[in-house]
Amino acid sequence: MLDRITDKLTDITRQFTGKNRITEKNIEDAVNEIKVALLDADVNLRVVRRFVNRTIKDATGEDVLRSVDPGQMFIKIVYDKMVDLLGDSRQDLELKGPDTVSVILLLGLQGAGKTTAAAKLAARLKKEGRNPMLAACDLVRPAAVEQLSVLGEQIGVEVYREETKNAVKVAKNALKLAKKKQYDTLIIDTAGRLQIDQDMMKEIVDVREAVNPDEALLVADAMTGQNAVEIAKAFDEEVTISGVILTKFDSDARGGAALSLKSITGKPIKFIGVGEKVEDLEPFYPDRIASRILGMGDVVSLVEKAQGVATQEEAEELQKKIISATFTLEDYLKQFQQMRKMGSVQSLVAMIPGMAGKIGDGDIDEKAIKREEAIILSMTLQERRNHRIIGPPRRKRIAAGSGTTVSEVSRLIKKFDKMRLTMKKIAKNKKLQNQLMTQM
Ligand code: GDP
Repeated sequence: MLDRITDKLTDITRQFTGKNRITEKNIEDAVNEIKVALLDADVNLRVVRRFVNRTIKDATGEDVLRSVDPGQMFIKIVYDKMVDLLGDSRQDLELKGPDTVSVILLLGLQGAGKTTAAAKLAARLKKEGRNPMLAACDLVRPAAVEQLSVLGEQIGVEVYREETKNAVKVAKNALKLAKKKQYDTLIIDTAGRLQIDQDMMKEIVDVREAVNPDEALLVADAMTGQNAVEIAKAFDEEVTISGVILTKFDSDARGGAALSLKSITGKPIKFIGVGEKVEDLEPFYPDRIASRILGMGDVVSLVEKAQGVATQEEAEELQKKIISATFTLEDYLKQFQQMRKMGSVQSLVAMIPGMAGKIGDGDIDEKAIKREEAIILSMTLQERRNHRIIGPPRRKRIAAGSGTTVSEVSRLIKKFDKMRLTMKKIAKNKKLQNQLMTQM
């Protein structure tokens, strides 16, 4: 997730960490490097220019250059500007109370991930205590209706479908039924096309008029970069959208769509899709993404995810362990078991400070995790609590017991050591700790 841009920006910000003297020239050079990184990330040129001008203007003031920690101040300015690009603050769905039906209309091109997003959103709202129903109005893509029905069954949400080619009729009837059955939210999946065309737009405008949605969300594929931005602009002009769900964020190394969308279209990104499973949908927090791509990690989201599957006490315990760097292999094992319930491991690792960008797409797979789990399970409790006592004879025994090799055991211990080092860094970072503490 955003590996490429994260790598580059982390390198640039690292040069400034702890620097107590910087010059105007240092700043200009760094901003130029950031400019190249943003262009390489496929960020819109107009957006890049605006970002560069504002950053230079704020960062070369006397108060920055003469401050006690100018390096930190420069990073803070870059961070603030990045948060601005991403959309300033979190924009939640604007839905009505439980007494009436709120309608969410999903639109976008074929293959963007609409049907998947409809189910993900329904699962999420259900978890939050709402009572959603789905309507299958994509009557163009073969199998879209069937796909939504299967997903609906999987998450325990009713899906309304009809044998017809008239999407407006299905939408209207779905709304009627939702009211009758006292659902509080209706999520409507609509038909896309391979590219924008008049038939699609007309159908969406008609459906929109028929159901008067509270939210009309464009579902756009992050991997298409600037194209996603153009599509958002076109949809907004024709149908007026209230926000965007940016899908396949997990596979987007560059981040161009996320970084340009708000500035170019004025519409907020409300959610990101981070995997193919129904639970792989996250609210979009500009500040957390900015801190991720500047290499500062996103501990807050990680902990929130953990809270979703662990009890409040377990989550607090984990936070304390990260802060005090007393995380053991036993905790690591417990995390695997919880992570499995959370969804994609790749998306979780990117949230750990210092880990983003360091792990390629191929580095993590469930099979490897199972092997690591087997290794830890073959250790004694004492070994899990203090991995430093695991010398060569113990490694051999553990390898034999887990059906792995000594080098795999050693690799896991080395990796774990590195992870603890990152946690120690957090332990030294007072600001991040305070941020964590206030979230508890
Ligand atoms: P639709 O034509 O817009 O309804 O698209 P689908 O919902 O069928 O999605 C198209 C493909 O993208 C499917 O293979 C999905 O599994 C995949 N997909 C959707 N959202 C995501 C996401 O957030 N991450 C990843 N990796 N794949 C996704």
